[in-house]
Amino acid sequence: MNNSETLFERAQKVIPGGVNSPVRAFKSVNANPIFIKSANGVTLTDEDGKTYTDYIGSWGPMILGHNNSQISKAITEALSHGTSYGLPTKSEVEMAELITEIVPSIEMVRMVSSGTEAVLSVLRLARGYTGKDMIVKFEGCYHGHSDSMLVKAGSGLATAGQPNSAGVTKETAADTITCRYNDLQSVKEVFAKYKDKIAAIIVEPVAANMGVIPPLPGFLQGLREITEENNALLIFDEVITGFRLSINCASTYFGIKPDLQTFGKIIGGGLPVGAYGGRKEIMQQISPLGPVYQAGTLSGNPIAMAAGITALKKLKEHPEIYSEINKNAKTLKTGLIEIFKENQIDAQVQGIESLITIFFTNEPVTSYDEAKKSDTQRYARWFKGLLENGIVVAPSQFEALFLSNLHTEKEIGQFLNVARKIVSSENF
Ligand code: PLP
Repeated sequence: MNNSETLFERAQKVIPGGVNSPVRAFKSVNANPIFIKSANGVTLTDEDGKTYTDYIGSWGPMILGHNNSQISKAITEALSHGTSYGLPTKSEVEMAELITEIVPSIEMVRMVSSGTEAVLSVLRLARGYTGKDMIVKFEGCYHGHSDSMLVKAGSGLATAGQPNSAGVTKETAADTITCRYNDLQSVKEVFAKYKDKIAAIIVEPVAANMGVIPPLPGFLQGLREITEENNALLIFDEVITGFRLSINCASTYFGIKPDLQTFGKIIGGGLPVGAYGGRKEIMQQISPLGPVYQAGTLSGNPIAMAAGITALKKLKEHPEIYSEINKNAKTLKTGLIEIFKENQIDAQVQGIESLITIFFTNEPVTSYDEAKKSDTQRYARWFKGLLENGIVVAPSQFEALFLSNLHTEKEIGQFLNVARKIVSSENF
């Protein structure tokens, strides 16, 4: 047994499934996880000393690559002053000023410690502010693991949601309605039925948790109009798109002003950070100013703020980072499309800027029911082929491939060479 296998055996005895987050278990590609010892730049090194070029990027935060020297330096500097005080710090003010400066739709922001926490807090705020209970979300979008987001569509259109996880009560699920992504008609029907009961729509402006599905033209604008017509709030969950699609996030990228936004991943520079923010008038409803309670012992932690501020400042000061990543992502997409075409493989290389997914299906994917038609067994072969050749991608068909500014033409070239080899093999 190698070291990863031994560790997985030990882990399974003391950690449910051997992992602290389910997708790390590699179950959907019928494999066992690799245990990582260190990461630098685009390279992961596992506990057996094997190295891989990483396209998971810690699921999004690592837009500047691993072990970025400026972020590490900022962390070390902050560390020399202590780790947590439970009283306000200058770095929290700096972070809030930076976010409100970078993202035009954010007038006030509250820091939390994860994307899940940002979402559950923003939903409470939306309910508190509007005085309404129901939330509309979209099938296939992921918003973290709070109870009201672990809900699937009820039977039939525009019916109350049902729990999507054991432990979520029917009563909680009933307040969440699930619509079809990119389908404005389904949203209109829900609003017609529950008109005065809906507090907010929450949406990933680019869906990236059922594989990457960009919004169809008019979809986000339509959501903006429907929410305005019905006195409901529009929430963009930008935990993935925030500071990735552009420095000013998806709201600016698409020119839509949501009422509230959530952030995570990149905002923490690799440390556990989330945030939610938006219009002042709404944000002022949060305690201690207003009646909506929300708190956190480690919220705005000084080490995490130092990492996040350094990452955001670097991205803000170097817009060329985005043009480089997007250019390399385009080369990768175009190259893959050619390879699949040459080898007559049914595949959709989809995405937007540096968010990419390869769906093994013959039709473009615009919603979850279409994503589900993908050949997940073929994805498993793809994943394993890449891994054997020293490349790590998400161990699931329904995730994004994350690039950093350190994935240069060289890495993209290597990826395409390996892809060519896998795709042309007999059993693929
Ligand atoms: N929202 C979106 C869009 C996400 O992609 C995720 C996590 O992947 C979350 C919320 C939850 O964030 P976290 O895992 O930090 O709790």
